[in-house]
Amino acid sequence: MIIRLIALLLVVIVVMWLLKRLFAGDKQPDQISQQPQGENMVQCQYCGIHIPESAAVKRGGKTYCCEEHADLDQP
Ligand SMILES: [Zn+2]
Repeated sequence: MIIRLIALLLVVIVVMWLLKRLFAGDKQPDQISQQPQGENMVQCQYCGIHIPESAAVKRGGKTYCCEEHADLDQP
């Protein structure tokens, strides 16, 4: 009898845990949109897109997403 009671309790705990996860999941996306750690993000001075600093094109102290935008932004 006590075994059945414990089993029932475990089922209730698991169901409550699942429901809690289900409702919490919508509010807090688990670091899906976060950037990779240690990678500094910079903005393209021409189109405004954000890119990792390692992938950015640097020219005249400004950062760009590609060579083309670096060329287009030059006076
Ligand atoms: Zn750009």
